Amino acid sequence: MTPIVQVEHLCKYFKTPRGQLHAVEDLSFAIQEKTTLGVVGESGCGKSTLGRVIMGLHESTAGTLLLEGQDVTRPTKAQKKAMRKDIQMIFQDPYSSLDPRMCVSDLIAEPMKALKLCDKDERELRVAELMDTVGLSRRFAFSYPHELDGGRRQRIGIARALSVDPKFIVCDEPVSALDVSIQAQILNLLQDLQDQRGLTYMFITHNLSVVKHISHSILVMYLGCEVEMCDSKELFRQPLHPYTKGLLSAIPIPSIHVQREEIIMKGEVTSPINPKPGCRFASRCPYAKDKCRESLPEVEEVLPGHYAACHYVREINGLT
Ligand code: SF4
Repeated sequence: MTPIVQVEHLCKYFKTPRGQLHAVEDLSFAIQEKTTLGVVGESGCGKSTLGRVIMGLHESTAGTLLLEGQDVTRPTKAQKKAMRKDIQMIFQDPYSSLDPRMCVSDLIAEPMKALKLCDKDERELRVAELMDTVGLSRRFAFSYPHELDGGRRQRIGIARALSVDPKFIVCDEPVSALDVSIQAQILNLLQDLQDQRGLTYMFITHNLSVVKHISHSILVMYLGCEVEMCDSKELFRQPLHPYTKGLLSAIPIPSIHVQREEIIMKGEVTSPINPKPGCRFASRCPYAKDKCRESLPEVEEVLPGHYAACHYVREINGLT
């Protein structure tokens, strides 16, 4: 089956006064239809830049981007138009991503209007349907974003993304600005919408526990590079990379009978500007040796379907 999204050796660099910032470094992965890829890493690891390159908001520096098998690395005008409809984004901060001067119904109708998808009467009908779909009472149709709480604002963001019937949605930290109880509601809503509409998601977050239940597979990034990727359950069962182990050890366990030792990741975070050769995690890795500072480890399939980028991954995990 052709994946919805496929990236091969994708790189995105930015020029800065201090040099070249390597935001995304040589990433390759595919996202199958009706599945969710969780992209996890600390702030500044390049996960949002990756989402923006896939959305077509940034042009990649190198590599290939395929959407449903079509090369859109340098999209034509027609491809750009199709991408605006087929790929949507849900943003981290629903408040700043919504125009405060527009009421809820206008905000939800805006993408349909911009893409000239239907006439005014149809739009009004669709807005009402979408409000029902995302669980937003119709009595809020003429309210403004500042009159609503964070959860309702994020429901507007989801309704806007759904309004143009996309195939693929990039969810960029969609719950990190919300209270924990609201987070669960929004995650459940996204999951229900995926089941009902066959949507494909890329779910970007800094919090591994958030993506545990929603993702089919997880990509862990560190300073622009892939460090580990596999099925979601497998990652929680058997993390292989020292960085993933550190991230997982920091997730609290809701039981007083189970104790887990937290791995404290000490050391400075390397600069992504003109990065030195070698593993980007070397300055914080407790297993680092000379080789780690000399060459960047390649991503390899360590176990079936389980990929990691570490020179000593077998040794660290007692694998032969
Ligand atoms: Fe640690 Fe070296 Fe593996 Fe990097 S390559 S994660 S520094 S052991």
